[in-house]
Amino acid sequence: LESTGKRDEPEEREEHPVSKVLTIPADDAALVARAREIADAELAPRVRDFEARGEYPRDVMRTLGRAGLLGVPYPEPYGTGRFEPYVRVIEALASRWLGIAESVNVHMLASYGIATLGTPAQRERYLPGLLAGDLLASNCLSEPDVGSDLSAIATRATLQDGHYVLDGTKAWATHAGIADFYTVFCRTGGEGAKGISCLFVDGRSQGIRPAPLDKKMGLRAIPTARVAFDQVHVPVENLIGREGRAFLAAMGAMDLGRLGVAACAVGLAQAAVDYAAQYAKTRTQFGQPIIQFQGVGFMLADMATEVSAARELLLDAARRHDRGEPFSIEGAKAKLFATEAAMRITVNAVQVLGGCGYTEEHPVERWMREAKLLQIIGGTSQIQRLVISRAL
Ligand SMILES: Cc1cc2nc3c(=O)[nH]c(=O)nc-3n(C[C@H](O)[C@H](O)[C@H](O)COP(=O)(O)OP(=O)(O)OC[C@H]3O[C@@H](n4cnc5c(N)ncnc54)[C@H](O)[C@@H]3O)c2cc1C
Repeated sequence: LESTGKRDEPEEREEHPVSKVLTIPADDAALVARAREIADAELAPRVRDFEARGEYPRDVMRTLGRAGLLGVPYPEPYGTGRFEPYVRVIEALASRWLGIAESVNVHMLASYGIATLGTPAQRERYLPGLLAGDLLASNCLSEPDVGSDLSAIATRATLQDGHYVLDGTKAWATHAGIADFYTVFCRTGGEGAKGISCLFVDGRSQGIRPAPLDKKMGLRAIPTARVAFDQVHVPVENLIGREGRAFLAAMGAMDLGRLGVAACAVGLAQAAVDYAAQYAKTRTQFGQPIIQFQGVGFMLADMATEVSAARELLLDAARRHDRGEPFSIEGAKAKLFATEAAMRITVNAVQVLGGCGYTEEHPVERWMREAKLLQIIGGTSQIQRLVISRAL
């Protein structure tokens, strides 16, 4: 596989003390301003070509890392320990390039367990590189036969002579083939939710075999693929948290990941509203700008209202997290509403542009394809409804 070819010889990796690489801006406004600046300068000019070519811009993660934007939600001393600034940063990135915002969210999910459950040695060894964007992580939960029901994970690790030996196939691994580390949820014990552990697997290990990349409807610049783990030897020191206790940690990470996906939806939807409104103000038919026809103006009004509502639901969930309150249900509501809204809004943005909306000359057709993903990843809309209805 050319595009995801594995290196046989381990390379030396530079270690980065945290103090040298992290410069988190002092307040949230400065942080979001920095994210917007990078989104405008580095993402907006490149998104179209890179998505068309299906090329991952690896340097962007370093740029974001050095700007302190990859560490935002991590506990101190790595970050702010809060998700409100994190979702604002993700929204800013998603408004210019959804794929990068999603890539950051996956990287966060794959690395977050090291900060919260990892040993001091694991944190010291891996977090500086992960938060600087020098190391890229992949989060491997899904399998060919395991999607919404993660308690059925079948990839297995057995302890042999001081190593775990990992066997199984993961599906939809974002960053497959280019990840420096794979955070692999696997079975070390019996069936069901109990018996699932989490291993942090060096991407250079022998026996990791990424399949050809998935040919996706959107986010083509962000690689996903099945990855086979064939007798991969993982040192016991790379167990994250306690053996057999990773399912609850995975569910907790899903709650946090939902905030990131909802933020992606808000950013994408806001971009679509802004673009469609601008077009409707300049496109003239029957002697007047089309926004002055109630059929178009009211459509835009509903789109703008839905974005605002989605953002407030999301901020409410993030603030609950930041105050140490339960936020799982509010996160599910935010993810459900924001992603469904993003789908409706991007479809309507194409409608506002008429025939032009149906061409690659304008980004709205890509945004419409991209929005669909958000209703699927991080738990489908049906799974969010399941979470919410169970709590009623
Ligand atoms: C581009 C992309 C990137 C991804 N990145 C990652 C990644 O980095 N890491 C990772 O681990 N996974 C990743 N995924 C996988 C993603 O999380 C799953 O696709 C998602 O969880 C749904 O699982 P599934 O596709 O197996 O669908 P299934 O679980 O098979 O569901 C199929 C349909 O049945 C419905 N359904 C299932 N169970 C229920 C129920 N109880 N009640 C009602 N309806 C139900 C679903 O809503 C859906 O409509 C990615 C997927 C894509 C497409």
